[in-house]
Amino acid sequence: MSKIKVMDEILANKIAAGEVIEKCVSIVKELVENSIDAKSNKIKIDLINSGVDEIKVTDNGIGMDSDDALLAFQRHATSKLLSDKDLFNINSLGFRGEALPSIASVSEVELKTCQKDIGTKIVIKGGKLITNEKCDARVGTEIIVKKLFYNTPARLKHLSSLYTELANISEFVNKIALSYPSISFTLTNDGKVLLNTDGRGSLLKVINSIYGIDVTKKMIEVSGEDDEYSISGYISLPEVNKSSRNHMVTIVNGRIVKNLEINKCINEAYHTYKPDDRYPIVVLNIEVDTSLVDVNIHPTKQDIKFSKLEELKELITNIIIKALNEKILIPKMEEKEIIPSVNKVVVETEEIKEEKKYEEVTLDLDYIKEETEIYQEERVDNKKVPVMYPVGLVRGTYIVCQNEDGMFLIDQHAANERINYEYYYESLTNKTEVVNMLIPINLEFPSNEYLIIKENLDILKDMQFDIEEFGISSFIIRSHPIWLPKGNEDLAIKKILELIVEKEKNFDKQRFNDRVAATVACKASIKANDNISIEEMETLVNRLRQCKNPYTCPHGRPTIIFYSNYELEKLFKRAM
Ligand code: ZN
Ligand code: ZN
Repeated sequence: MSKIKVMDEILANKIAAGEVIEKCVSIVKELVENSIDAKSNKIKIDLINSGVDEIKVTDNGIGMDSDDALLAFQRHATSKLLSDKDLFNINSLGFRGEALPSIASVSEVELKTCQKDIGTKIVIKGGKLITNEKCDARVGTEIIVKKLFYNTPARLKHLSSLYTELANISEFVNKIALSYPSISFTLTNDGKVLLNTDGRGSLLKVINSIYGIDVTKKMIEVSGEDDEYSISGYISLPEVNKSSRNHMVTIVNGRIVKNLEINKCINEAYHTYKPDDRYPIVVLNIEVDTSLVDVNIHPTKQDIKFSKLEELKELITNIIIKALNEKILIPKMEEKEIIPSVNKVVVETEEIKEEKKYEEVTLDLDYIKEETEIYQEERVDNKKVPVMYPVGLVRGTYIVCQNEDGMFLIDQHAANERINYEYYYESLTNKTEVVNMLIPINLEFPSNEYLIIKENLDILKDMQFDIEEFGISSFIIRSHPIWLPKGNEDLAIKKILELIVEKEKNFDKQRFNDRVAATVACKASIKANDNISIEEMETLVNRLRQCKNPYTCPHGRPTIIFYSNYELEKLFKRAM
């Protein structure tokens, strides 16, 4: 019996009418998903000229008989979807029956497929059947799509640049390989292999095939579950991060899902471990009862609705934070990374630029020490950073430390900033003492800013500022919380009021506290080019060792870098 049944009219109409192939990747996607549905465990995708000249997909799946092969090129034919219910069942990769006829109408398609001994060969040009004959073939299906859009010159403009087409295809094949570690995928372009996975079922091996060994070594295995969801996968150490969000991959019941809320949640779990505009590599397999998800958004958008999204987000957040918390996250300096490169351009981060703009603030270092003594008592060494001894300072900026394992470099500003950040953040969440100012400060604002601040005086009062309107467009502050950096109170208050003016529409107290703590910490910390004494270095290192996350500043830049004894010996050719 023919496996492919003709869908009823209603269902066909439900499928989005705009099933138009605009990019090579949508063809690759269609063909590869067909191969997966045909139970293949080996799928090879060969492109010529980024797929614009030719896309060939070869699989070792169950193949089709001659009836099915022909029917596959007719509209509304499908073997996957038999009713409404099936259409919205997440376990089906997508919907079939629309794309193949569309593809065949704008290209030359050659299909060879075989179930047992005798195969079928079909050639269609511009939608017209040219050949339909028996042929020799091995079990499986081989489909070649040539001269895409050759008969519709106007539609060629839909194709992006060759580079973009190839990048899109490569991204798709990478992701499908991540979601099917038990299928071997090979992708080539003009004979050059771009991806090759072994199909032996190891997700980590697929990650290795895509990102290489250096990244793979820095992936942490994670897992966790609650009543609804079960999650497993890998997340990158914060030092491995990308400029694009595309490397956060979530797979729900075997299907790649792009859900902005989940991506945001993954990224936020890394907050302060990495710069906010860099993104981790994450592959999470999420298993959930199909009754809790709804694909009825739009099948091509790859998104789904979760009925218990908050629970899922909480679970993901907990899994990532727990994994990062358990790891020692000091980046190890490996030999090849410090060979000076000729074209290296130092990119100034926003933060550095901002700091340069700001007037230099000299800090009373005795104050750090004084405060440390109170501070240290409450804190216990969490052993995240080993004991180390400062031996000197390079360029008034980097503290050189050593212990029996090797050498450490600490960025004094980043380290001080982390210490201050955690201190301010904690102070902001707890009620602290209030200091009455000898001379109240009077601050004037442009009227638009004045109005915003006036509207938000509650936030400031809640932070224990005694602040009131005073004359036209100005405020008077009579007392402030004790934690404001001494000697820089005015500056800190101005910064906090600026943050109030910039505050987001949906005010989130936690996020606001985070920004206040990071901003004030930056202003209150030792700057680069400030020569501190060995004692001050010791204080700083010891306080850093007591931080919850001693590895990065609140902006995600590293505080410590480690050179092992072995690396040092290798650098001096004492060890090979
Ligand atoms: Zn800073
Ligand atoms: Zn920073």
